[in-house]
Amino acid sequence: MFYNSTRNSTVKVSSAEAITQGISVDGGLFVPESIPVLTTEDIKAIGEMSYAERAGFVFSKYLTDFTEAEIRYCTENAYSTKNFETESIAEIAHLFDGTYMLELWHGPTCAFKDMALQILPYFLTTSAKKINLDKKIVILVATSGDTGKAALEGFKDVEGTSIMVFYPEDGVSPMQKRQMKTQEGENVGVCALKGNFDDCQNGVKAIFTDSEVKKLLDEKDMMFSSANSINWGRLVPQIVYYVSTYAELVRDGEIEAGEKINIVVPTGNFGNILAGYYAKHMGIPVNKLICASNINNVLTDFINTGVYDRNRKFYATVSPSMDILISSNLERLLYILTDGNDTLIKEWFGKLATEGRYEVTDDIKAKIREEFVAGYCDDVQTAQTIHEIYEKYSYTCDTHTAVAVKVYNDYKAQTGDTTKTVIASTASPYKFSKAVLEAVQNGKSELDEYDMIDRLAELSKMPVPSALADLRNKPERFGDVIDKTEQKNYVLEKLGI
Ligand SMILES: *Cc1c(COP(=O)(O)O)cnc(C)c1O
Repeated sequence: MFYNSTRNSTVKVSSAEAITQGISVDGGLFVPESIPVLTTEDIKAIGEMSYAERAGFVFSKYLTDFTEAEIRYCTENAYSTKNFETESIAEIAHLFDGTYMLELWHGPTCAFKDMALQILPYFLTTSAKKINLDKKIVILVATSGDTGKAALEGFKDVEGTSIMVFYPEDGVSPMQKRQMKTQEGENVGVCALKGNFDDCQNGVKAIFTDSEVKKLLDEKDMMFSSANSINWGRLVPQIVYYVSTYAELVRDGEIEAGEKINIVVPTGNFGNILAGYYAKHMGIPVNKLICASNINNVLTDFINTGVYDRNRKFYATVSPSMDILISSNLERLLYILTDGNDTLIKEWFGKLATEGRYEVTDDIKAKIREEFVAGYCDDVQTAQTIHEIYEKYSYTCDTHTAVAVKVYNDYKAQTGDTTKTVIASTASPYKFSKAVLEAVQNGKSELDEYDMIDRLAELSKMPVPSALADLRNKPERFGDVIDKTEQKNYVLEKLGI
């Protein structure tokens, strides 16, 4: 299997190269040149495997330059009860008849980002070895909350790497801030920036592309790499849980082999739902992929009209990990749907950069509507949905997942579609305890963050993830706050350059 760049289809690299490079030099994203197909027998066999084995099976189709032993090394280290609180890793909960919650947040940071960021460090270090890249890999991350912590947990004490995370001083939740400030590990760094998420991101991008910095790093045998979802090494692990879930539902007699399901995904950067698309085209029978957004509904409009327009107000919502106006992974979908037309992709994404808007052709609009359905809801509806599910099914879900449930309920009411449905549940409700508690009890709470967790535990009867409970007594290790002009020097100083 080789990988092309969405902006230059003549680029052809191995998976090890795609993973270490992160993004192609032309600015495009790496995509596999074809989608491997699973047979009905494969799916049946997958149902009998452990999660680590299922992951290994899927990876063997995409990472064909990795040996079996290398893949096993990665999967066994990442997907074990050492890192996840449930044996199944991706836990399926039954919400109501024919509707399943795919709980992807039983990892160390309580958000679905762990599913990929627990394994990415192993992919990256294995890839570097394979291509004889004898350099220390420095991961720089700008985060609005979940990615930063998940990347820190994934890369902590991983030999041959170090990681530095920047977050906006006033732009993350108290729990997210505490998660990052108390991070353990000898190779980690965390720093707050006086500015917003865009300032963090712009600063990181500027450092990545600074030729003086690159030269200084080269001299020290170091290189930068990226841990966000533009990296193929973060996308491929997400395909696994859709394949795994389908195989498990068949195994457990919840669905017939070959029976179609809907997949609903609360979406921001389009990474998670794109993984669902890959799973579908690998042979998992899927009826509709349902894309759920909060009031930052740029994707809802795009899927319904074919016009992508980011010239709109940005809202801070109770589902902050979906507060995003540029969904990077859409580029991969459009590349596939245009049969690898890099000229069109360059045209559209060029327009997005200069005008903030592009419109796809009628042919592509039709193809998108064939596979995807899109909807959105606001914060009030999100809270109502959390309350309703709690009352009706004694199930407590987080704000992002609630957006997905609401959009699914609307879809079902409009279409009468009774296809069995898997809803991706992307975060533990305890990670957004204030919004969730207030929704559950239908009223404001003045408790502090930890007391809110305790109160939510009483109401939900769900165990508090130990990673969050332990935060209360953990010492804070990282208190640096810098101005955005100091970011580059800060990085160099911390790297000892
Ligand atoms: C990152 C995130 C999302 C959005 O996922 P994408 O892959 O960016 O679409 C949704 N929910 C939570 C809790 C997240 O952390």
